[in-house]
Amino acid sequence: MHFIELGLLPEITENTDALGYQAPTPIQEKAIPIILEKKDLMAGAQTGTGKTAAFALPLIHNVLLRKKTQPESVIQTLVLTPTRELALQVHESFERYSQSLNVRSVAAYGGASLNVQIKSLKQGCDILVATPGRLLELLMKELIDISSLQTLVLDEADRMLDMGFIVDIKRILKKLPSSRQTLFFSATFNDDIFTLSKTLLNAPELIEV
Ligand code: AMP
Repeated sequence: MHFIELGLLPEITENTDALGYQAPTPIQEKAIPIILEKKDLMAGAQTGTGKTAAFALPLIHNVLLRKKTQPESVIQTLVLTPTRELALQVHESFERYSQSLNVRSVAAYGGASLNVQIKSLKQGCDILVATPGRLLELLMKELIDISSLQTLVLDEADRMLDMGFIVDIKRILKKLPSSRQTLFFSATFNDDIFTLSKTLLNAPELIEV
């Protein structure tokens, strides 16, 4: 199967072609159509399965569609990650998959200059990849506008809970528009994960690879 058969815009599959991705991985084949349909998703996937592209490609597609009628940048997609390393990696993946397209991703994480990140946000941001602490700081100081948010992604949700981010996540959720798509990615599932997913997701599709 080729990525184009999953319903992605050709300008996106030109980028996956250029990267030498010959076919979607199993998680991509299952997740991409669900995300394009704007449904909620709970996905069990380890690192190395291609899980980043599984959400990044359809979310870039959704941003491009919105920009056809509303060209300015607004934070449409928010990806939460447990660590700054993962935030950077996910941000770099968005940049790679949206190469030469009119889509801007910004990474915001602690331990780095807030001012530099604010400057970057001011240049436009369609996709924000953030760690919970830095995101809360931006929200509390009213430095970002997330009123146009359409999709929230929790990447490595199990690690986020293990690292004690549950209180931060709940505080963040209170500030997000409630009518939105939510995507939940976790390598493992336990009671805490299911409890959190129930508060977050609305009739989710479930996939495991
Ligand atoms: P991830 O599971 O998101 O950490 O991705 C693991 C690696 O797989 C990354 O280095 C990606 O560049 C690569 N990758 C993702 N999707 C594909 C694909 N469909 N074909 C080949 N490589 C891929």
